[in-house]
Amino acid sequence: MKAKLLLASALLLGLPGPMAFGQTRARPACLAPISYRIGALDSRFGISREDFGRAVEEAAGLWEGAAGRTLFVRGPKGVVAINLVYDNRQETTQRLIAVRAAVSDKLNEVNAIKSRLRPLQDKMRALEDTYSAQLSSYKRLQDEYNQTVTQWNGKGGAPEAEHLRLSNQRLALRKQEASLEEKRQELNGLADAINELADKHNGLLHRANDEADSFNKSTPSSLQFEEGRYIKQGREERIDIFQFDGETALRIILAHELGHALGIRHNGNPSSVMSPLIRADRVALTAEDGEGLKAACSGR
Ligand SMILES: [Zn+2]
Repeated sequence: MKAKLLLASALLLGLPGPMAFGQTRARPACLAPISYRIGALDSRFGISREDFGRAVEEAAGLWEGAAGRTLFVRGPKGVVAINLVYDNRQETTQRLIAVRAAVSDKLNEVNAIKSRLRPLQDKMRALEDTYSAQLSSYKRLQDEYNQTVTQWNGKGGAPEAEHLRLSNQRLALRKQEASLEEKRQELNGLADAINELADKHNGLLHRANDEADSFNKSTPSSLQFEEGRYIKQGREERIDIFQFDGETALRIILAHELGHALGIRHNGNPSSVMSPLIRADRVALTAEDGEGLKAACSGR
């Protein structure tokens, strides 16, 4: 089962241009809070203004908790506009999320089928053992019966008592035949049920593979996204968010860009919020992030 569904994501910041992050001059951020507003949110992200606003507040709160004071203030005339900008980046991400969900649904179904198959297979094996033991005992009895009948026939017939005994034996053999036939049919029924489930199992696995394959083929394997950007151009200041694949990712990206708005530089710890390539999987500052905040606030 191929599971190469990981999209590498990255913040490709530090590009030449009008961006002002990484500046050495301390902005007055740590003295006076940065005012921001929620700007244009493309509805295709599927997040409400309220939820987005809450994500921004939580991301801002991360730095404020470390600084021990208010660093950001939200208002309708805030200086820094925070926008959600939709393009092929988020579109691909949403496709990935959908493919992941579809594949994982199928794999869940595959596992459910497996757990239904196991007891059926156990039952089948036990029944096969009983059947073959019963069949060989039946064959032995039948051979004995046939031999005895042939012997008596050679002698011109059996006496009355022996005849009766053989008739009873023949009846017992017929009963065993019926019981064997019943078991055989039960075995066939079980085999059919097992095959049907196995076909379903294999079909689902195939389809899950196909979906993962076609997604991987349609997407460059070394895909790296710029997830967000802090831009300062003249008097205009804004944060554009381009891509995120869940609530945690959104908060980390927002915290990263808000960090740039504070003048915090990248640092080398890959778990940092301020790592140039975001690898963090939880919304928390590292010691290096804390150092960066201190440096930005003290103007170093
Ligand atoms: Zn950055």
